Amino acid sequence: MKTTDEHRSLLRELWHHGAQSRSDLHELTRIGPNRVGVVASGLIEEGVVRECQARASGGGRPRVPLEIDPGQRHMLGLTIWPGAVSVARVNLCGQLIGKPVARVVAGGPDRLVAAAAAVLGKAINGQTMGVGVSVPGFYDAESRRVLSGMVVAGQDPVSLGPVFDRAGGLAVVVENDMHALAARWQLTHRADVGHDVLLVNIGDGVLGAAMLIGGRPNRGCVSSANELGHMRYFVDTERCYCGQSGCLERIFSSAYLRRIGGGGGAEGEAGGGLLMERSAAYESGDESLETLYGYLANGIVNVVNFIRPHRLVLVSELTRCPDVCDLLTRSIRSRLLGELVDRVRIDLWDQPVAHQAETAGWLALAGLYCDGWQGR
Ligand SMILES: [Zn+2]
Repeated sequence: MKTTDEHRSLLRELWHHGAQSRSDLHELTRIGPNRVGVVASGLIEEGVVRECQARASGGGRPRVPLEIDPGQRHMLGLTIWPGAVSVARVNLCGQLIGKPVARVVAGGPDRLVAAAAAVLGKAINGQTMGVGVSVPGFYDAESRRVLSGMVVAGQDPVSLGPVFDRAGGLAVVVENDMHALAARWQLTHRADVGHDVLLVNIGDGVLGAAMLIGGRPNRGCVSSANELGHMRYFVDTERCYCGQSGCLERIFSSAYLRRIGGGGGAEGEAGGGLLMERSAAYESGDESLETLYGYLANGIVNVVNFIRPHRLVLVSELTRCPDVCDLLTRSIRSRLLGELVDRVRIDLWDQPVAHQAETAGWLALAGLYCDGWQGR
C-alpha cells in the first residue's frame, strides 16, 4: 500500500484520539464523508485499521468505530551501529513483537551494511508495512550514503543501497538515532505537533539532541542529530573524536570529572561510571559534580534561548537521580531569558538507549502517522 496524505490524515486522528467512527473522522479531517468511507475501506483491507463494536447513535444507524489494528501488520526497525546490527518488529500500536535479533559484525562499514541488509531480508514477510533505519552520524538522503560518524569511522562514505534493495517496494525511513528517539517521544506522548520540541539525550560522555519543528525533524543541510555534544568551551578536556577539545560531551563525562578532582568509582581511562555513581549520591556542595552540571545546563540554555522551543525534553537514565535532575532543571531555569522561564516546559523522560532496533521501528510508524517523516 502506498500511504497517501489522506491515509495519514485518518490514521493520525486514530492514533491521537483512539477509535473514531467514519463520521467523526470526516469531522476531524474535513475529508468528504464518501471519501472517508473509501479511504477507510482501503485501510481495513490492508489490515491497518479494524472495525470495533458498533455504538448506538440517537436513533439512526449505529456507528461503527474504527481503530488501528495491532494484530495484523507490523513495522521493522533496523539499527546499524559500530560492530553490530539488529532488527526488531513492532506492531502498528508500537508494541514490540518477539525479541529483537542482533548480529555482531566484524569488519568495515561495507560488511556492516551487508549484514544489516541480510538480517532485514530475513525479517521481512508479507505483513511488513515499512522499515525504519537508524544510523549514527551524518546521512545524506539524496545519495543514500552515511557520510561520517561512528559507523564510517574515518573511512569513505558507505552506501545504504543494499538495505534499500532488500526492502524492495516497502517504505524506508532512514534517520539519525536521535531522530528515532524523537519520533518515539512524539508518538508515545501524543504530542501537539504545533509545539516545537528540543529533545536532549544525556549520557556519560555522550550528548545528542534533536529538534522537532511543527512535528518534523529539523533537517538542516544534512540529516543528523543537532550537535549539542560538540558545542565547545575554553576548557581543557581530552581530545574529542571530532578532532577538537573542550566539547561539551567531553566535559560531561566521568573522565573529566576524575580530572577535576572527582574521587571514587572504578579506576580506568573512561572513568568507570563515576559520573552516574556520583550523581546518584549527589549532595549539595559537591563542587566538581556541580561544575559538570553547570556546563551542561549552560549548553542547553544557549540552545533554548536561541530556538525558544515550547518543550525541552531531557532523556536520560540520570532521571532516576532526582537530586541531580533538580540541580540541572534549576540551573537551566535560572539562566533562561526571563520571557522564556514560564513558557518553556521541561520534561524528563527515562528511556533506554537511543540506538535500539525497537526505537528505529518508531521511525517507520512516524512515516505512517506523521507528516514530514517520509523517506525518499
Ligand atoms: Zn567534539
